[in-house]
Amino acid sequence: MIFLRNLSKKEIFGKTCLLRVDLNVSEKEAKNSLRILGILPTIKFLIGNGAKVVILSHRGRPNGFDKKQSLKPFAKILSSLLKKPVHFIDFKKGFKNSEISLLENLRFLAGEEKNDKKFAKQLASLGDFFVNDAFSVSHRNAASVSAITKFLPSYVGLLLENEIKNLSLAMAKSKKPLVVILGGAKISDKIGLIENFKNKADYFLIGGGIAHNFLLAQGLPIGDSIFEEKTINFTKKMLKNKKIILPVDYIIKDRKILDIGPNTVKYYSDIIKNAKTIIWNGPMGYFENKKFAKGSKIIKGAILNSKAFSVVGGGETASLMSNVKGQMPNVFISTGGGAMLEYLAGKKLPGIKALK
Ligand code: ADP
Ligand code: MG
Repeated sequence: MIFLRNLSKKEIFGKTCLLRVDLNVSEKEAKNSLRILGILPTIKFLIGNGAKVVILSHRGRPNGFDKKQSLKPFAKILSSLLKKPVHFIDFKKGFKNSEISLLENLRFLAGEEKNDKKFAKQLASLGDFFVNDAFSVSHRNAASVSAITKFLPSYVGLLLENEIKNLSLAMAKSKKPLVVILGGAKISDKIGLIENFKNKADYFLIGGGIAHNFLLAQGLPIGDSIFEEKTINFTKKMLKNKKIILPVDYIIKDRKILDIGPNTVKYYSDIIKNAKTIIWNGPMGYFENKKFAKGSKIIKGAILNSKAFSVVGGGETASLMSNVKGQMPNVFISTGGGAMLEYLAGKKLPGIKALK
C-alpha cells in the first residue's frame, strides 16, 4: 500500500487525481459530518501539491437517475468548506479545466455497484491517479472503489490512512485492560467483532438492544423489547464466556427495555475508568428519545474522562460523539459503520485490498 502522504510534489504536480470519498450523509448534517470534514485535508494536500481533483462519490440507493439523490448540493457544501470553487459535473456536460470538480452520483450508472471493469476503465480515463479516502464504503466492491485500481496508480488517502492506523492499533497492539462496549440494535452485525475479540478483550460491556438477546438466551422475559431470533445459538454459546458483562438494571416503558439503568451505568463506568483501550460501538439505549439517552451519555462521558486509547464508531454512535470530534487526542472516531465492524472483525475489506 502506498500512502498519498508519502508522495512527493513531483509525483502529484500537474496531474489529475480521482478522489473517491463518501458524501452519503444528510445534506443537513453535511457541514458537521466527519465523513466530509475528514476529506478536506486530503483535498487541500492534493491541490497544495499542484494536482487537479475530481471527487467521486455515491449517494443513497437510486435506481437510475433521481434528482433527489443528486450530488449537486454537495458541490456548494464542499465549496463553502474549502473556500474554493467546486465545479459540478453531471454526466451530460463536459469537463471544465477546474482545480476541483465533483462528479454526479456514481450510482446513477449501473456499472458502479456491479464493480464493472468497463465502467471503471471509463472512470479511470478521467484522471492520472486514484486515491481512496472512502473508508466507510471500502467493505463493498464498487467500480470507483475496487475495479478502478486496476487501471490507475492507486493510493491511500489521509482519512483512510488514519482509519487503518487507529483501528489496527486497537486490534493488534492494544494495551490491557481492553474493554469492548457493545450496544445498538442488531447483534447480527456485531458477531464478527465479538468472535475476533473474544480472546483479546478483557470485558464486553453489553447494552442497548443487543442485551435483550442475551436475556432471551438465559430464558428471561423481555416483554416487547427488540431482539433477533436467529442469533439465539450464538448468544447461548457466548453466555459461557465470563468476559460478557450484562446490565444489572434497565429503564423500561410500555413493556419495552429502552435504556440501561443507573446501577449498570455506574458498574460499567467503573470498568471503563480502569481501561487502557476501549472500543465502543452501538448506543446503550433508544437515545433518539431524550428520556432514554442517559445511559449512552454517561458512558460517553466515562470514555472521554478515561485516559484510555478509545476507538468509537458506527453511524449512530459517531453521531453521539459529534460535539467532541478532534478535541480528544486519545479518542478516535471512525467514519465507518459497517466498514468499521468488518475491519474490527478481522476481515480484509475489498477496497483496501485493492490498494495492495
Ligand atoms: P451504530 O449505527 O452506531 O452502529 P446501531 O445501528 O447498531 O448503532 O444501533 C443504533 C440504534 O439502536 C439506535 O437507533 C438506537 O435507538 C437503537 N437502540 C439501542 N438500544 C435500544 C433499545 N433498548 N430499544 C430500541 N432501540 C434501541
Ligand atoms: Mg446504525
